[in-house]
Amino acid sequence: MSGYHAFHDPVIEGVLYSSEEIADIVVRLGKQITEDYRGRDLALITVLRGGYVFLADLCRAIDLPLSLDFMAISAYGAGGGAVRITKDLDDQIEGRDVLVVEDIIDTGLTLNYLLSVLRQRKPASLAVCTLFDKDIRRLADLPIEYVGARIPDRFVVGYGMDLGGRYRNLPFLATLHDEVMG
Ligand code: 5GP
Repeated sequence: MSGYHAFHDPVIEGVLYSSEEIADIVVRLGKQITEDYRGRDLALITVLRGGYVFLADLCRAIDLPLSLDFMAISAYGAGGGAVRITKDLDDQIEGRDVLVVEDIIDTGLTLNYLLSVLRQRKPASLAVCTLFDKDIRRLADLPIEYVGARIPDRFVVGYGMDLGGRYRNLPFLATLHDEVMG
């Protein structure tokens, strides 16, 4: 694990996916997307902040012309998927082939809301690529075209995902000790 000292952080329980395993998944997804979107007008969209690490790697594994754009949302109220857009896209997506790139999908409520907003803007197509999927907890019925790996119902950090703003820079996906999660 190339001497990454956060690995010895007492909060971290273990490695669920190593950086090498994640890299293999990203290459596989990139190849699939390259085949599926050849000749189309691909716009990758991700949700800040968690998705940016995956997006950075995924976009370089796609061998096609494409554009990148970002949204930021914040949840309000407790649960229920009520979210507010705090940063909207810079570009128009009407008529384009939009692929939403997510780090992880849990209940799917956030994504469900996001997709309903994007659909109103009349993209030519709208699809989802998530690196990790906790599908056991899914509440919203979502079509997810590209899934990197299904993971168990554990809170994870690393590779863009945080706990209280930290651990996003871990190059691997880690689980936390149960005591940390209360
Ligand atoms: P959902 O609306 O699908 O329940 O939640 C989606 C968002 O919650 C993800 O984009 C991510 O920001 C956050 N999330 C869900 N599960 C985890 C997790 O295990 N770890 C971290 N750090 N964030 C998570």
